[in-house]
Amino acid sequence: MADQYTLQDPSTQYPKAGPEFQQQQEGPGLQKDMTPVPDSGEELYRGTGRLTGRKAIVTGADSGIGRAVAIAFAREGADVLLSYMPEEEEDAKQVVKLVEEAGRKAVAIPGDIKDKQYCEQLVSAAVQEFGGLDILANVAGKQQYVEDIADLTDEQFDETFKTNVYSMFWLSKAALKHMKPGSSIINTTSIQAYSPAPILLDYATTKSAINTFTKALAQQVGSKGIRVNAVAPGPVWTPLQIVGGQPEDALKEFGNQTPLGRPGQPIEMAPAYVFLASQESSYVSGETLNANGGMPTP
Ligand code: NAD
Ligand code: MG
Repeated sequence: MADQYTLQDPSTQYPKAGPEFQQQQEGPGLQKDMTPVPDSGEELYRGTGRLTGRKAIVTGADSGIGRAVAIAFAREGADVLLSYMPEEEEDAKQVVKLVEEAGRKAVAIPGDIKDKQYCEQLVSAAVQEFGGLDILANVAGKQQYVEDIADLTDEQFDETFKTNVYSMFWLSKAALKHMKPGSSIINTTSIQAYSPAPILLDYATTKSAINTFTKALAQQVGSKGIRVNAVAPGPVWTPLQIVGGQPEDALKEFGNQTPLGRPGQPIEMAPAYVFLASQESSYVSGETLNANGGMPTP
């Protein structure tokens, strides 16, 4: 297998979904127990110094897309504070090791981002441990499918909004107190913001809120030299999908309907976050970068 710079056919670069993708775990799920194990770039992501000396927070950093972002940021030269849930310690430990092997500092702080104080604690810990904060990557998220609005509980609706939207608000607000010109906030929206699945009513609505929040905040802080952008993944093979994110029997076809004909892997999301975090994207703000296998977006 080759790194992200080697020319190859993207339609066959990673496998199509098949019957082996059908599996379920209790939430939040562990990446290490999935088959096939998602590729978060552990072997393949090659850094080239694009984030040298930066200090970053990555939420959901134990698995899936957040894990790929944490690995990529470290290999590009950034220190990384990892947020994740206590149940995900086994996945998170591997990421801490990978960040350290890249020669960067890793700080692991498990907790619940539905809790405002925990969000504020993440920012103060980053400032204390790293001596500042340049990058906030909000990647953590909750997705639970429910077929009928009659069965969508207030509790779930509230938790999905707290996890996906409120945490972004609390973390951004706390981070901006410390961010200097050149800093970057990167949120995680979804193809669901534009093409909502009927079974993801609450989730898709949060993803559209994240897009709008990103565009509004970008205008507020542009004059301070801070950029705010979002990444909108399409179907990506991660724990989120096998803990109730999709009906189990949909997993054998997961992502095969995209123009590239297969699900994405977390490693394929990382370069979008690296681009938006680095100075290369100095004139890009309020933008959503879609990485979705070719599905048209507005
Ligand atoms: P994932 O399960 O690997 O990551 C989600 C992470 O969110 C978990 O690892 C967990 O650490 C964190 N999290 C959830 N609730 C939390 C809480 N209350 N407190 C602290 N942490 C919490 O799955 P992923 O697919 O990599 O998800 C990452 C982001 O990508 C999410 O925002 C998701 O909505 C978004 N996304 C995923 C896809 C996809 O197809 N996988 C598509 C579009 C967008
Ligand atoms: Mg996880």
